[in-house]
Amino acid sequence: MDLTFSEKETAFRDELRAWLAANPPSDPPRREEGEEANYAWRREWQRQLYDWGWAAPGWPAEYGGRGATLTESAIYFEELGAARVPLPANVLGLLLGGPTLMVWGTDEQKERYLPPILSAEEIWCQGFSEPDAGSDLAALKARAVKDGDGWVVTGQKVWTSGAQYSKWCMLVARTESGLAKKHHGLTYFLMDMEQEGVQVRPLRQITGEAEFNELFIDGARISDANVVGGVGNGWKVALTTLMNERAGLGFALQVRLRQMLDDLFAATAERGLLEDSLYADALGELHVRTETLRLLAWKGLTDVERYGQPGPEGSLVKWLWSDTNQKLTQLAADIVGLESLTAESRWSYELLRARGNTIEGGTTEILRNIVAERVLGLPRIATAA
Ligand SMILES: Cc1cc2nc3c(=O)[nH]c(=O)nc-3n(C[C@H](O)[C@H](O)[C@H](O)COP(=O)(O)OP(=O)(O)OC[C@H]3O[C@@H](n4cnc5c(N)ncnc54)[C@H](O)[C@@H]3O)c2cc1C
Repeated sequence: MDLTFSEKETAFRDELRAWLAANPPSDPPRREEGEEANYAWRREWQRQLYDWGWAAPGWPAEYGGRGATLTESAIYFEELGAARVPLPANVLGLLLGGPTLMVWGTDEQKERYLPPILSAEEIWCQGFSEPDAGSDLAALKARAVKDGDGWVVTGQKVWTSGAQYSKWCMLVARTESGLAKKHHGLTYFLMDMEQEGVQVRPLRQITGEAEFNELFIDGARISDANVVGGVGNGWKVALTTLMNERAGLGFALQVRLRQMLDDLFAATAERGLLEDSLYADALGELHVRTETLRLLAWKGLTDVERYGQPGPEGSLVKWLWSDTNQKLTQLAADIVGLESLTAESRWSYELLRARGNTIEGGTTEILRNIVAERVLGLPRIATAA
């Protein structure tokens, strides 16, 4: 693994760095203005990135990106992090939905759906999890029944991030039941969220925000033209989405972790606690973990370049990142003291938000299973078909 940038990569980084310095986002709205105002601000920021071709440089040029290499895409996330600007608002559309359509979509679907993802005109959400199907996604029960030139869907989804802002939902539903294997008979749809049969109810989290929602689907209609990858092929299409989720977010997460650790160093220094061996040891350990994560993220990228797809080691990055983030925010609470108990303070928010890290995008227990079985080669745990 050679981490020296080529001339082209250095030029890419310098161009982006100069653009970010000259075009910072406007000031964010105040917290009292609410979540919607904050989302609108992030949407506007994506629009600004889009106008200059920076919304998704990793997308091929024919779809409105810059055809950036994997290394350049990693540089993109590192530079956004270093400039401390937010990720574009339509993150699920850009990192999950768009790349899934590029693999499985028809030409008409690509032409219709990719441009408004990029410009943030149409926001996307991911309707996979259900009350009884999270880790075991193939157990999902939402049903789609054929009706004329389309489908009628009934069921419930849960934890659907950003559904309240979304126009389209990547929805996996059962189109055939009673098959020998439960991941057979699933179909991947694009569901229009703006219709009577779809109800979105926000779920308030421990942080006070409602990032995600319950989705009640009662007779929603989806046309045949919005089936992605063919009827009955939903499991394979969903795996493409999930692979992009882990690969795409991995880099952005480790960059943000480094920023938070730098901030915690500053907060410790301000309080004159850097010489305290208790805190110095804990900060030292976090520094080593963060650096390990950075190198693992780059190694994962080298693997994709070499073998064409991310390896199961990516699960180790997500597991290590969520564990480290929880340790970091707990240490921050010990260091800043009472401030971390004050509602809506920065560190109290980070402490509470970090609890979900070991659940979202694959729970730590599931990731440990993957590492045990596919990286270490330990015996497989028997599960139901
Ligand atoms: C902040 C956040 C945002 C999210 N956004 C979305 C979204 O936009 N769209 C979406 O579809 N979903 C989303 N999710 C849902 C997320 O993907 C699920 O919560 C996750 O997959 C776990 O599923 P579950 O909650 O049903 O828990 P379960 O699968 O019921 O698991 C319960 C517990 O059992 C353990 N467990 C389960 N199976 C095994 C096993 N085989 N071996 C060992 N332990 C096991 C789990 O680790 C967990 O501790 C989000 C979740 C969070 C926290």
